Amino acid sequence: MAKKSDGYCRFCMKSFPGSSMSRHLASCPAKKERDAQETAAKGKSSVYHLKITGSSWYHDAPYWLHLEVNDAITLSHLDKFLRDIWLECCGHLSEFNIHGTRYSDSPEDDFWGADLESESTDIQLKKVLDVKDRFEYTYDFGSSTDLLGEVMAKRPGKLAGEKIRILARNNPPEFTCAFCGKKAEEFCSDCQSFYCEKCLKKHECGEEMALPVVNSPRMGVCGFSGEFDTDFFMEERAGNAAR
Ligand SMILES: [Zn+2]
Ligand SMILES: [Zn+2]
Ligand SMILES: [Zn+2]
Ligand SMILES: [Zn+2]
Repeated sequence: MAKKSDGYCRFCMKSFPGSSMSRHLASCPAKKERDAQETAAKGKSSVYHLKITGSSWYHDAPYWLHLEVNDAITLSHLDKFLRDIWLECCGHLSEFNIHGTRYSDSPEDDFWGADLESESTDIQLKKVLDVKDRFEYTYDFGSSTDLLGEVMAKRPGKLAGEKIRILARNNPPEFTCAFCGKKAEEFCSDCQSFYCEKCLKKHECGEEMALPVVNSPRMGVCGFSGEFDTDFFMEERAGNAAR
């Protein structure tokens, strides 16, 4: 089973363990240089450094994302981003829990009862979060995927051309085929085992039960196939937004 959760800093392209990435990002010279350019554009806005972690039921290597976001984005923006990169399978409900207050993407559909009413996610981050604050996030109240977030730092400035920027992300964990021991590409959601493509063809549960191995804490849950879960997609989108 994969235990590693190293990742690359996207500024200097050096590899670090997940446990020391926060420290590195706070002192990375390449990042400092870029930050300085963005700070030069004066204004009252600031940029939050967020760390989001999630674990999965099948192994204990954490999934993590270090992000920078403009403090003016809404919880709804962040929700959309997390769905795109890690979570979205069939449009389940999601919710933030910040200082004991629940923020839901669809507060009107609240089926937990009136005594647990939630606020709307249509609220700016800076209104509800500050440095060192932690928050919880849940996607899907059936087969839940729970994430933890923390505001690691804040700097004056505004991201150039994008609202959310990925600073670093855990490398995809590797899994081995339960049958032949080679690298697994598929996960059988019926018997909850990993298979390479070749062995999956001979697998008795049938190929229709298989889900692709993807770099997400929601891998193998519900119908999650990770079709949005590619760096390519995110970078394309960030690029389009910048144009
Ligand atoms: Zn770096
Ligand atoms: Zn689903
Ligand atoms: Zn195999
Ligand atoms: Zn199976």
